Amino acid sequence: GKVLVTGANGYIAFWVVKGLLEAGFSVRGTVRSETKAKYVQDYFQSYGDKLEIVVVEDITKEGAFDEYVKDVVAIEHTASPFILQIDDPNEVIAPAVAGTTSVLQSVVDHGKNVRRVVVTSSTGAILEVHPEPRTFNESNWNDQAVQIVQDKGSAADSASKYRASKTLAERAAWKVVEINKNKGKINWDLVTIAPPFVYGPPIQELNSSDPQSLNQSLKDWFNIVLLGTKDNEFLANVGSSWVDVRDVAKAHVLALSTERAGGERIIVSTGTWKWQDWVNIAREMSPDVPAGAVDYNPSDAVHMFVYDPTKEKKIFGIDLIEKEESVRDMLKVFAEKGWWP
Ligand code: NDP
Repeated sequence: GKVLVTGANGYIAFWVVKGLLEAGFSVRGTVRSETKAKYVQDYFQSYGDKLEIVVVEDITKEGAFDEYVKDVVAIEHTASPFILQIDDPNEVIAPAVAGTTSVLQSVVDHGKNVRRVVVTSSTGAILEVHPEPRTFNESNWNDQAVQIVQDKGSAADSASKYRASKTLAERAAWKVVEINKNKGKINWDLVTIAPPFVYGPPIQELNSSDPQSLNQSLKDWFNIVLLGTKDNEFLANVGSSWVDVRDVAKAHVLALSTERAGGERIIVSTGTWKWQDWVNIAREMSPDVPAGAVDYNPSDAVHMFVYDPTKEKKIFGIDLIEKEESVRDMLKVFAEKGWWP
């Protein structure tokens, strides 16, 4: 069958498209402009007409996806802004929410062959900031970020704006299901995948003369780990959880073929890190990496955002990629681009 992937040119989506094609699916990817279509098309040219790229200029427009859902069996909705320099919260919230609603409504109205819809959410839609460390699971919702944005508007911190966009978009997705499920209007179920920070090798189009053309998560990794843009205090104390991009893609592909994933919200997280952990691993492989906080002791690290892996293990059981492999493969790409060392 054919699968619709929104935002097919993105960091995560590129690996999702690859995984789907390798699993034997046909793919229709959407991008925002012709120029972005070409790179995706060329990258997967060996798959011939198993991949089709279409331009959807404005994903928030009602009916924007109507034509593109009619003949597909599943949707992977990944398109959503992940940026961390945000003024007006609606720069991220509007496209995240309206984009999600628009795709799902098109499926309700025209996706008669659709059996599954996967939405790329985020642990940003799950975590809440507390003074003490917490372990979160799929029953948790980040309403705190929504509240912060409601209270402070443009003055809220960018992380809260982005997290609010993910909470509101995911809630909107589940709401479309709830509204329609008892009306016999839908023949599919929803799966949401919630990754924490995603790292690992990029295969999307990049401006070879500029590492700052990397997507948000990799750009931060490149700047902080390799360029040493933060002080030792930051490196030793700031961190979160992470997962390799290839495992995120795997989850998106498995979400289509795993019956029991239907109706589930699933966190896919490999584990915790502080920036200094990445520095230490990268420096082992590449002595040019700045040493950072040399007296950092990982066993003293306090991790604020920990995720319960139980559900992922039960439903997918992915053999998750470890930090060393992820770092090695990122450094390889950065070296090929001439960005490092
Ligand atoms: P990218 O920036 O590489 O990809 C984002 C994709 O969404 C691109 O195709 C982009 O299109 C599209 N997009 C962005 N803004 C809009 C908009 N206003 N209207 C239409 N399309 C838009 O980021 P990622 O691959 O990292 O992100 C993909 C998904 O994964 C997002 O939903 C993100 O929230 C989620 N995620 C990412 C994590 C990470 O650490 N990377 C962690 C957890 C979740 P264009 O190229 O034209 O801008």
